[in-house]
Amino acid sequence: MKVIRAKSAGFCWGVERAIEIARDYAGKGRYPVYTDGPLIHNRQMMERLTAEGVREVGDYQSSAELQLQEQEGTDPVLVVRAHGISPQRRKYLKSLDIDFRDATCPDVGIIAGKIRMHARKGYTVVIFGDVNHPEIIGLLGYAEKGRGFVIKNSEEIDALPPLGEKVVMVSQSTMFTDEFNRLANHLRERYPDAVVIDTICGATKDRQGDIRILVEAGAEAIVVIGGQHSANTRKLAYLAREQHLPTYHIETETEIDAAGMSRYGTVGVTAGASTPEFLIEQVCRSLESIETTARAPV
Ligand code: SF4
Repeated sequence: MKVIRAKSAGFCWGVERAIEIARDYAGKGRYPVYTDGPLIHNRQMMERLTAEGVREVGDYQSSAELQLQEQEGTDPVLVVRAHGISPQRRKYLKSLDIDFRDATCPDVGIIAGKIRMHARKGYTVVIFGDVNHPEIIGLLGYAEKGRGFVIKNSEEIDALPPLGEKVVMVSQSTMFTDEFNRLANHLRERYPDAVVIDTICGATKDRQGDIRILVEAGAEAIVVIGGQHSANTRKLAYLAREQHLPTYHIETETEIDAAGMSRYGTVGVTAGASTPEFLIEQVCRSLESIETTARAPV
């Protein structure tokens, strides 16, 4: 079987940077290297990092109080994830009296900066995203109290209270560009002077664009690799299905149904921003070893 791998498959630079920061501390003998919530939404990679001395504490949303059990003679450090945190959370973490390193992705930092700048000028902030996602929870902290809103569809825009004249709209870094543009237009129907800033990151746009490239290159099916809990991986799978191609969202090569896949001559492979290289390579090797038997009807 021919396998076409998307150029952007795998770690985005923000996730890679956060992992490098945590690994660098672990490599220098700092122990434990705490992370405020899971450093990465990939179980297999988290197992590797745990073996290297990285310890997840707190919760997915970075909102729980941390129970750090320091032992005598250890030299702990606390690392903030690529998703970033709110100013309130930063203050709390700094109060814990433990070495602190912020590994927030600079692209998320840019969004936070735009929100803070507009909030200081009196703008109400509307963010397109998932209200439960840690990135959104962190970003909302930069809006003025009571003047930050999260929306994910037109109905939620319609349900917003009157926001006054100064409105700015941004996006969670991993949303769909088409959807953001559609919702921005909808918001402008209510607030014609709304300032709209497309803050979807380049890594996300590359991944979304690459799905179309796989289709154009002749993929008959798409395999998306990544954690079932990874929001950006699930979005990639959704986009692939939108192309009307059979789509398989798997975490590891053990989930490949070789007999079922053998009907495809060419398969496209992509992976979420939190999927490590070793998992992508295993899946590609496994697919390449499958012999095409009967071709899928075109
Ligand atoms: S998806 Fe984009 S914003 Fe999020 S960590 Fe990766 S590069 Fe940064």
